[in-house]
Amino acid sequence: MAINPRIRGMAALAAFAALFCSCERGAAERRSLAQAEGAALGSSISPSRSETPKTSAYTRQLEAALRDAEIPEDMGDRIKAAGEEAFLTELALAMEGDPFLWRLVDKKHPLPDGYEPDDLVTLDDGASYRVGRADLRLRRPAAEALERMASAARAEGITLVASSAYRSFDYQTQVYARNVRESGQETADRESSRQGHSQHQLGLAVDFGSITDAFAGTAAGRWILVNGPKYGWSLSFPDGYEHLTGYRWESWHYRYTGTVLAAFIDKWFGGIQQYALQFIYAWQNSP
Ligand SMILES: [Zn+2]
Repeated sequence: MAINPRIRGMAALAAFAALFCSCERGAAERRSLAQAEGAALGSSISPSRSETPKTSAYTRQLEAALRDAEIPEDMGDRIKAAGEEAFLTELALAMEGDPFLWRLVDKKHPLPDGYEPDDLVTLDDGASYRVGRADLRLRRPAAEALERMASAARAEGITLVASSAYRSFDYQTQVYARNVRESGQETADRESSRQGHSQHQLGLAVDFGSITDAFAGTAAGRWILVNGPKYGWSLSFPDGYEHLTGYRWESWHYRYTGTVLAAFIDKWFGGIQQYALQFIYAWQNSP
């Protein structure tokens, strides 16, 4: 049965609100204690002056997460200005469902040892997209979303080609070693991941087309940059963000995040996936 998104949002918000319950209860206890003390001392101190504002736990957690995730100030200011209910509701919706959709996997944050998805399916060359190799696999939700996106592209006369998809821990070991051998360590680290640190091991990432900078100038490259997020695909390593992502611009590498998280990334984090995933990681791990 389909659940009204507003209801789901409220349920999710309630779950988040529960995080702050103890603080609110604490504030209420402090308030009544202050009133009792005021009465005992015959003091005229207004209880509201010693009261902890209701949003303080949220504000503290938000500020810690923005700081830990190194979110740019203007981005953080917009989130703060939106207010607790608006932002938390959308954050909760973005984090609903499969946690691997928003899991931070980068040079500092590896996947769990031995991680291998259990719902991999082989991509079908007879679908709306083409495949660069016969044995490409993705997790089922990503494969289905790829088909939806490719079908929309095809309706506009554009064929998407999936050139690389799931890579196991062992396969990524070989890919990285080969890149080091061919290009040297420094270049290899800008363009490929060590085993355990690749979004490809999630089974949720696809490299499209030629896997070169030329892809950005192709009809497919331009189409997916604009339309990818509508189908839940987010550019992982945008131009000008190597300092943040650790990888040079990869116009061909997209991660499936689902449509809700992709919209969240666009709305609050300027379309920069790494900021959003770092924020969610920091939010979860803030004290
Ligand atoms: Zn890639």
